Amino acid sequence: MPPEAAPLLNAAGIEAGYGSMQVLWGVDLDVRPGETVLLLGANGAGKTTFLKSLVGLVEARRGTIQLAGDDITHMRSSDRMRRGMTYMSELAVFPDLTIEENIRIGAQALGHADPGRRMEELYQLFPVLRDKRRALASSLSGGQRKMLGIAKALSAEPKLLVMDEPSAGLSPLFVKEVIRVLSGLQGRGLALLIAEQNISFLEVATRVFVLEGGRIRFSGTVVEMSGNEALHRAYFGLK
Ligand code: ATP
Repeated sequence: MPPEAAPLLNAAGIEAGYGSMQVLWGVDLDVRPGETVLLLGANGAGKTTFLKSLVGLVEARRGTIQLAGDDITHMRSSDRMRRGMTYMSELAVFPDLTIEENIRIGAQALGHADPGRRMEELYQLFPVLRDKRRALASSLSGGQRKMLGIAKALSAEPKLLVMDEPSAGLSPLFVKEVIRVLSGLQGRGLALLIAEQNISFLEVATRVFVLEGGRIRFSGTVVEMSGNEALHRAYFGLK
């Protein structure tokens, strides 16, 4: 992606928190069309709070959020979705619904013209879900649930998929599988913003933002990050 590409998402000076506790202190982050951005940070750094402020589940007290050039800072969450931003939380699926029902939900929420066609495309990406489509999501393994979460999020045909810790609760083997699936999604015009504490996700990222104590400590390419000695020690040293 050329550096001059106009951002799909541009968040500037975001401040947010809960009651009197401020969590984010002026976070700037952008995502260009089709690229994969990793938001890296330890537990409690504020990753989830930031993602929720982007998708409208937590109020941004200060700052602005633009999607495809439009100001969405005060827009309802459902309207942000309609404009092409989908959020995949750590939980990601409804366990008491079937696989097929879970996938249909994303498409229906947006009044998708042809949910059947979309479902067929998603089953081609995730064949294991087709085999189990009438089973409850609760019957899936942790890794399969994560695949279903991704399929459900993709059913809305987003331009930007915002993912909160896709590695949560997964064994290293399944983390690898999720990374493989995410790299397969690249190059289809879909942009990904992935919040993680697991540095394995650097493998799929074009750029990285490091969040510490609610502030961006670093932003740049993966190569630039590995060349930064302090960050290298802090993140790569612990692998
Ligand atoms: P994790 O990986 O643990 O989810 P994170 O980087 O996503 O970490 P956040 O979940 O955004 O971090 O949490 C940032 C801070 O906000 C933490 O101190 C957390 O305890 C606090 N916090 C998160 N959600 C709430 C809430 N609903 N009410 C009050 N405080 C909250």
